Amino acid sequence: MKHNTSVSISKNSLRLPIHIYGSGISGLVTAYNFYKLGFLDINIHTRGRGVIQSLLTEDGVVELAANSILQNTEVTNLLNEFEIEYEYYSSLGKKKYIFFGEKAVRWPLSFLETFKSVPSLIKLSLKSQKMRPKEFETIDEWSKRTIGSLLSERLFKIGLKGIYGPNTGDLSASLCLSSLFEKREEASKGSISFKKGMGSFIKVLENELSLSGVKFHNIDKDEVQNQKNGISVICTPAHSVPSFIKNDFSKIDYHSISIVTYIHKEEDRLPFKGFGCLFDDNEEGVLGVILNSDLFDNRALKGSISETWILKGDIYKDEYSLGPVEKFRSDKFKVSSSYSQRYFKHWDKAFPVYSIALERSLKDIKKESNIYFFGNWTGRIGIGRLIEESPKFVREILRDMSNKR
Ligand SMILES: Cc1cc2nc3c(=O)[nH]c(=O)nc-3n(C[C@H](O)[C@H](O)[C@H](O)COP(=O)(O)OP(=O)(O)OC[C@H]3O[C@@H](n4cnc5c(N)ncnc54)[C@H](O)[C@@H]3O)c2cc1C
Repeated sequence: MKHNTSVSISKNSLRLPIHIYGSGISGLVTAYNFYKLGFLDINIHTRGRGVIQSLLTEDGVVELAANSILQNTEVTNLLNEFEIEYEYYSSLGKKKYIFFGEKAVRWPLSFLETFKSVPSLIKLSLKSQKMRPKEFETIDEWSKRTIGSLLSERLFKIGLKGIYGPNTGDLSASLCLSSLFEKREEASKGSISFKKGMGSFIKVLENELSLSGVKFHNIDKDEVQNQKNGISVICTPAHSVPSFIKNDFSKIDYHSISIVTYIHKEEDRLPFKGFGCLFDDNEEGVLGVILNSDLFDNRALKGSISETWILKGDIYKDEYSLGPVEKFRSDKFKVSSSYSQRYFKHWDKAFPVYSIALERSLKDIKKESNIYFFGNWTGRIGIGRLIEESPKFVREILRDMSNKR
């Protein structure tokens, strides 16, 4: 790993202790970006790994959370700097489906594609002032104001649900859509992962940071204290922000999610090939399915296929409750749901709800002198976005600190 010498920071500042709380991707990239600027005393205080984890099973790689990263320039740079090999989705990854009229129909469900394909949105350019979400406007209010047509709204909302979860009536249009209105260098070449899964990427980051002198501290909740000297960056989920912080983020809503990966025989596969399928509201609480072995080679052995079903976490808390999912699969697609293996994971409070309440909380953050917040609840959803924003965020911290001196 190399230091980036293009930013000049005084030698004294480089000795300032950096205390990062959380060792998920947010904490790791924050540490890395301080390291790149030449900081010498970087500490990560953590209660264990973040949500990105993979299992290396006899059936192939099984992801326990994220299955890919949406690539952008920062992601590419990071992977090159760490010399990590990555792989793109196969060409099937472009084929995305929604379950509509009792069958899976093809839909260009990348968010931007969905957005651009709504006719009334094409007419109203994204640059138009009218399109910009207003403060505290929900997605429902925004889409009524801009898109209009019922069909467009419906399709648009299914696409959004796939990213932000349940109820578009509660979601904040500013938090969910504002990135579309930002000037960004758009260099996404698609979604990527790694031969040994997403978890292997995290392990490389952890190892390289350790070798570079970043100190990892395994802390028990009660021992977490504000390090008065230096900079503290909180990269934990909002609901577990350490107790020394005066802000109260415990009320920020999270929704839970469960995922289960099934290994089926090839002949029992779903009747379509591609990325996967999203489902509109259903009483079984099934949100979507990802066809892992269509996307990457090593996700199942020859003659088998691997699918990951994404489920509402408040309904499915353990693998013994999965009967309705298996019935859903065979009823909707008229295929046998017999499987050779299944791997289940329940994530309690997995995703922040990008709600109006969150928008308000972010606006009301009480600025404490040397404490900063970074994570998927501070307005950056997705791993690609967290990696993209991290260098800017670290520079903002340094600017803020030097203004105070
Ligand atoms: C099932 C699932 C599928 C997903 N799929 C994708 C995908 O395909 N692509 C994508 O881009 N994104 C995906 N995401 C989202 C993405 O994985 C997350 O947004 C991202 O990994 C969050 O990283 P983080 O570091 O902010 O938080 P986390 O990974 O949650 O890490 C939080 C860290 O904080 C630590 N911690 C908690 N409390 C404390 C405390 N009090 N003191 C110190 N440390 C503490 C934890 O131990 C952990 O190290 C998915 C998420 C889930 C759950």
